[in-house]
Amino acid sequence: AFSTASKAEKTWVIYSPELEPDPKDIFLLQQFRRQGTRDMFLVFQPKLDLATGYIKGAEALLRWSSPELGAVSPGKFIPILEKSGLITEVTHWVVEQAWSAMFRFQERDGSFGVSANIAARDLMSGCGLVDLIQSLQGVRETQRLCLEVTETGVIEDYEHAIDVLSTLRASGVHCAVDDFGTGYASLSYLSKLPIDEVKLDRSFIKDMVSNRQNHAIVASTIELAHTLNLKVTAEGVEDMDTLRALAALGCDTAQGYIISRPIAESDLIHLLGRPYLKVSQVRSQGELST
Ligand code: C2E
Ligand code: MG
Ligand code: MG
Ligand code: MG
Repeated sequence: AFSTASKAEKTWVIYSPELEPDPKDIFLLQQFRRQGTRDMFLVFQPKLDLATGYIKGAEALLRWSSPELGAVSPGKFIPILEKSGLITEVTHWVVEQAWSAMFRFQERDGSFGVSANIAARDLMSGCGLVDLIQSLQGVRETQRLCLEVTETGVIEDYEHAIDVLSTLRASGVHCAVDDFGTGYASLSYLSKLPIDEVKLDRSFIKDMVSNRQNHAIVASTIELAHTLNLKVTAEGVEDMDTLRALAALGCDTAQGYIISRPIAESDLIHLLGRPYLKVSQVRSQGELST
């Protein structure tokens, strides 16, 4: 069912205009070659546990802000670094930073988990990610680090993704499929992927209260994921009604501006160890409306 044609093409194309950096990207690439990750830092977006009202983890999101470039969003610079093959250095840096921040959060909350985004290219190319994780696990073991890979990255070479994800999980990290629903993956993919968590893309979440179809998609994805023993996180929750609807459907965790924007580590630390929302704020109305 999974075509190998696109794989073959990629293997054999030697010259492609895609490999020539866009002139407007060249400055950015020059800066990166000169500075590396020096002006990069991580912010953390809290993940709310819908059953308890506690913040139980966070997603590390990369920021790059330099005197020469100003602030550039990851949606812009990551694809450029990915295309030029420079992303691997960033991926390793992000994983190490996220990993060490996690232990600082765990001084407040011993079960706190941190997730980091992995570019599909780095997941699939065997860029030393597995070795890196194994060496970090050797320093200090963790079951609470999660790697997020986008759905589209995974289905491009599904069989290989299964191998890589299995190896990573065997070394003790969790894996999540990010932006689920935006690619053309069917729900049946989920049953074969060795993962722990599904992150439902914001495009379904944002109007699920008013759009019956999206509500149904969210509901059935949660149900199936739970049948497969996967946790479900909803991305991009921006209002209380949506948060309550998700809680009523049994969604495990939620992220979004209604809970918090991505924030600095020092700000997140203060949110831990006590309820962030009262369970009644999240639960009551949602249960009545279903
Ligand atoms: P993502 O992993 O799906 O992350 C969610 C994005 O949605 C983040 O944007 C976050 O700030 C934003 N967001 C969170 N809540 C809301 C909300 O309620 N409403 C709206 N409109 N947006 C919300 P950000 O930080 O700009 O990151 C964009 C994408 O860049 C990420 O999407 C991820 O794919 C990629 N990215 C970020 N950091 C890294 C990284 O360290 N490595 C790699 N490979 N990719 C990264
Ligand atoms: Mg993500
Ligand atoms: Mg996402
Ligand atoms: Mg998304």
